[in-house]
Amino acid sequence: MVLKRIELNGFKSFADKTEILLSPGVTVIVGPNGSGKSNVSDAIRWVLGEQSARSLRGSKMEDVIFAGSERRKPVGMAEVSIHLDNDQGKLPVEYREVLVTRRVYRSGESDYLLNRSTCRLRDIHELFADTGLGREGISIIGQGRVDEVLSSRPEERRAFIEEAAGIVKYRNRKNDALKK
Ligand code: ATP
Ligand code: MG
Repeated sequence: MVLKRIELNGFKSFADKTEILLSPGVTVIVGPNGSGKSNVSDAIRWVLGEQSARSLRGSKMEDVIFAGSERRKPVGMAEVSIHLDNDQGKLPVEYREVLVTRRVYRSGESDYLLNRSTCRLRDIHELFADTGLGREGISIIGQGRVDEVLSSRPEERRAFIEEAAGIVKYRNRKNDALKK
């Protein structure tokens, strides 16, 4: 599974539509302090269903919408899309290219789309469970996360191991079944 493209529109400092193309190999984003590097990784976590405004370094979800600058008015909507190559079928859908989109409006209204069709947040969670890429995924390691793993409580550490072992989706299904 390869991340091929990220599109941002109205997300944090990306007021205009911005496309980031990732070629095969390692991609490094460099830039001065405050230029929006971390906003790119926030965008990836957000589109994958991050629900905590705080972990996106804001206080409410509306904070992901471009808030205006000296020269630009604020915008009314933030949208992020990621294109993933699913050639190897790691994601349990038939598409060879998977496009995940999330939008949020200032009114609070929000949508998730999978290959341009509306879906639920739950569908996004299911799609990425056990791939390491989900909202709580282990493939995005923020500053301080390494320390967090080392100092986490046993049950938190267990969650990392379960994700890596690929059994999260079974645990979720079991919990659902027990609720019914
Ligand atoms: P550093 O090198 O310090 O880690 P960085 O390149 O990671 O910097 P970011 O943290 O990604 O920078 O970007 C911070 C910038 O994004 C700030 O200038 C902040 O004003 C801007 N920003 C964040 N949210 C919004 C928003 N909703 N609207 C407009 N600008 C925003
Ligand atoms: Mg940063």
